[in-house]
Amino acid sequence: MTRPRVRPATSRTASIAAITATTDTPRRRTTRSATPRTTGRPPRRTTATDQRRPRHTPPYTPSVPTTPPIKAARGVRDILPAERAAFAVVEHAAREQARGYGYQDVELPIIEPVELIERGVGGDTDVARKELYRLEPHGDPGDPPREIRTRPPRFRGDPGDGDRDSASRLVLRPEATASMVRAYFQGGLNQGPQPVRLSTIGPFFRHDKPQHLRYRQFVQFDVEVIGDDSPAYDAEVIELTWGWLERMGIRHVSLELNSIGDENCRPQYLRALQDYYRPLKDQLDPDCRRRVEENPLRLFDCKEPQCQPLMAAAPRITDHLCGPCAAAFEEVKSLLGAAGLEYRLNPRLVRGLDYYTRTVFEYQHEALGGAQNSLGGGGRYDGLAAALGYPGTPGVGFAGGVDRVAYMLQHEAGTITPPAVAEVLVLPVGDGLDRAASQVGRLVRAVRSTAVDYSSRSLRAKMRAADRTGARWAVIMNADEAERRIVVLHDMVSGDDRHVAWERLAEAVSPSPSAGEGQGGGE
Ligand code: AMP
Repeated sequence: MTRPRVRPATSRTASIAAITATTDTPRRRTTRSATPRTTGRPPRRTTATDQRRPRHTPPYTPSVPTTPPIKAARGVRDILPAERAAFAVVEHAAREQARGYGYQDVELPIIEPVELIERGVGGDTDVARKELYRLEPHGDPGDPPREIRTRPPRFRGDPGDGDRDSASRLVLRPEATASMVRAYFQGGLNQGPQPVRLSTIGPFFRHDKPQHLRYRQFVQFDVEVIGDDSPAYDAEVIELTWGWLERMGIRHVSLELNSIGDENCRPQYLRALQDYYRPLKDQLDPDCRRRVEENPLRLFDCKEPQCQPLMAAAPRITDHLCGPCAAAFEEVKSLLGAAGLEYRLNPRLVRGLDYYTRTVFEYQHEALGGAQNSLGGGGRYDGLAAALGYPGTPGVGFAGGVDRVAYMLQHEAGTITPPAVAEVLVLPVGDGLDRAASQVGRLVRAVRSTAVDYSSRSLRAKMRAADRTGARWAVIMNADEAERRIVVLHDMVSGDDRHVAWERLAEAVSPSPSAGEGQGGGE
């Protein structure tokens, strides 16, 4: 048995310097593995390992690009490993939280019929008017091109202009709730025990002006309770989603709460709102001027500075709630109080989608500021099912922005470390070792994630790369050692090296119940 070489190392970098200084150069000197590229010596003798496999294929010659590099579309982005680690934490917390409250996971289509979204979110919302990604109709190949409708519906249920083959008009989904309700009925979930608790995580698309934390493709965590109108479900959804942010340590979040009434009391309130705004029209921006007549509730979505003072003095919906809506709102507040959740009543919170009734809520983060300060929100939508052509069925839900929460996690909590590329890196030194290295990789992979560095770089370069990926061990092998079916196992943390037989390698790096990381197994 070879005695382990114990090498004190103060850091991973010191550890690399040690191994490349002693394992690279001296080991090469005493074995036949030194490569002409790094040492300038005559080529080494062919080994038995080489004879099993041809030496290198002709080297790769990079060709010169003839066009500018193709970049991602505007407003969309890649979630690369560093950020993906934060996403994974956010998504894991979401799944755990949903499971903890008995919500079942579903996966819904990314493309949906345009009517579902237009009738779902409301034809006068920004989402339907400006932000929908409409797909060109696809017919059979060879069909003459058909007209693509450009005019959005003017009122709920308006089919709009153009192509009458509605089944072929599709959009990329901008939100999940309408799809959830459709799936609930289409999949027969309305026939089973009620209510049905569902959750999903996935990408959504809105053609908005791209900004920091406002993307054209983003990820939402969505939960819905469909089939019961008890305000206890409103409170449950809020408690669940508050817990989601809390379990990740996201702080400085405020919960804003409001009720926007229902079809009984809202019309009367909207008239009061119009009476207030009509004499002030010339002080409003053009969009708001239009909203006064067409959809006064949307006036509260406005972010224009000139409209803010008028909004502050506008009549409050909570002063116009009917008896049942007021009672439901009181119940939600009392349940939230009993759950120990603090909230801020915000009579101007209306949310951006038309389908909400009664409770609406939103999580705002003080550090985000501006238009992008919302981490998520939701509310009750008792009129949505009927608007989609299904039997009237109550529901309440939430959509949270995974991109924004992941950003807060990285920039506020700052605790996310991307996982190592692999825990073990196999580093063959010298040519002709691909087959042996992949076999060693296979042996170790049984117990640890393992990657093999097949490149022809020097051991020093390979060790530096291994250090940067955060690997826990390096398994170093040259042709001589491959013949003897041994490797040098290098502990990237302590800097220790020891020879280990291939057969004992898995054992050497396997998690030890008592001591934690790999123990024993020396040759
Ligand atoms: P909404 O469906 O508009 O209620 O949005 C719910 C949450 O999704 C928001 O609070 C944001 O966190 C997130 N979100 C909405 N739109 C975007 C976007 N364009 N880019 C990034 N996140 C978004």
